[in-house]
Amino acid sequence: MVIDRTHDWIERSLAHVWHPCTQMHRLREAPPLPVARGQGPWLFDPEGRRYFDAISSWWVNLFGHGDPGLNAVLKDQLDRIAHVMLAGCTHEPAVELAERLARRTAGALPHVCFASDGASAVEIALKMSFHAWRNRGREAKREFVCVRHGYHGETIGALAVTDVAIFRDAYDPLLMRSHQVASPDARQAAAGETPADVAVRALDDLRALLERRHEHIAAFIYEPLVQGAAGMAMHDASYLRGVRALCDEYEVHLIADEIAVGCGRTGTFFATEQAADEGEVPWPDLLCLSKGISGGYLPLSLVLASRPIYESFLADDVRRAFLHSHSYTGNPLACRAACEVLDRFDREPVLERNARASSALEAALAPLKDDPRVEHLRRRGTIVAFDVRPEVAGADFAERFHQAGLQRELLIRPIGRSVYVMPPYVMDEELAAWLAARVIDTLEEVCRHAA
Ligand SMILES: *Cc1c(COP(=O)(O)O)cnc(C)c1O
Repeated sequence: MVIDRTHDWIERSLAHVWHPCTQMHRLREAPPLPVARGQGPWLFDPEGRRYFDAISSWWVNLFGHGDPGLNAVLKDQLDRIAHVMLAGCTHEPAVELAERLARRTAGALPHVCFASDGASAVEIALKMSFHAWRNRGREAKREFVCVRHGYHGETIGALAVTDVAIFRDAYDPLLMRSHQVASPDARQAAAGETPADVAVRALDDLRALLERRHEHIAAFIYEPLVQGAAGMAMHDASYLRGVRALCDEYEVHLIADEIAVGCGRTGTFFATEQAADEGEVPWPDLLCLSKGISGGYLPLSLVLASRPIYESFLADDVRRAFLHSHSYTGNPLACRAACEVLDRFDREPVLERNARASSALEAALAPLKDDPRVEHLRRRGTIVAFDVRPEVAGADFAERFHQAGLQRELLIRPIGRSVYVMPPYVMDEELAAWLAARVIDTLEEVCRHAA
């Protein structure tokens, strides 16, 4: 039985498990945390020590681990049907999920295409955009535009519109060429400039490219409000309205990658909703969703598509159809979990509760504003981040912070020298104060060693 041998998980992991995002050669120096179970925001190792999941297990977990509501619907679904193919078959969890998501966009994005992980949702969005133009006789539109330091996943297509050197550089010779435009990252503000000013500059850069190249460009893809893998780079909501307007003006599809920022992370269910102007939401043409949509329980991703894009595929000719498929497309268990997640947003004041807890967290971290070692303390919804100045951070900062965090009951993994927390939605004000104190204590420890 596995359970009797938990103590040697690390050795056995080393022998056979190829961990993601890990230099396996260094695994012994930085061994993985063995996790035996989870409850609420806590993870427990086989010895029963607890760790606060401050990054929601790579941004996926919403209502904590072992959530009774999610557990109950999944057990019920297991007794009905665990999986059936979605080509030639249909089932209630997929239908209900698609209907509910369409309603959440007020009908702007009424058609839902299913996949399993974020990167495949991005692949779908890129292929769909190109194919929709082609179906309209505009085959020259086959180039994509992305934002500097943006992240959209690591399959070959998604990586081509990703601008994070550490993930991209080794594979660069394999990738299709894409255009990169300036990031609206508000940290670039010069003295006296507002985040909105930075957004204007970034929009000017996009306009210049579209002006020159729009006949060849199929779509612009971006992460609304927060560029996650860039180190929680945040920008002004005016940027969202700006890109919508430019894409309209130059006939380019707008793809919003809400894989990380969707499902309430930024304070509204979809990040895009925050850019509403007099009730008018600048909906994209294609919207990618994954990570939190299943509550962090099962792999599931979706692409929501506008009516015009959908209709461009309708014809007697099968080759005009969108034939893209995955074996587990629309998995009933994952869809059922997602329906329960949406139910939770309908039944409970999730966003209001998060707003209170996140404000408490921000307030408890506020002393860092005047800390000379720290810059750019920032928050958008439930995501709070700050950067440690390079001269203080020193070498291997992220790994040292991660290890020092574990000593303080924290699971936290900085990106470079950007420290962030993105806790599950079960943090109350008391836990927020505890979390902030432990983060500050970890910072003290790590900076002491750097000095
Ligand atoms: C995580 C992420 C992806 C990729 O999702 P995977 O499930 O890891 O393939 C794509 N885009 C954004 C913005 C993400 O944060």
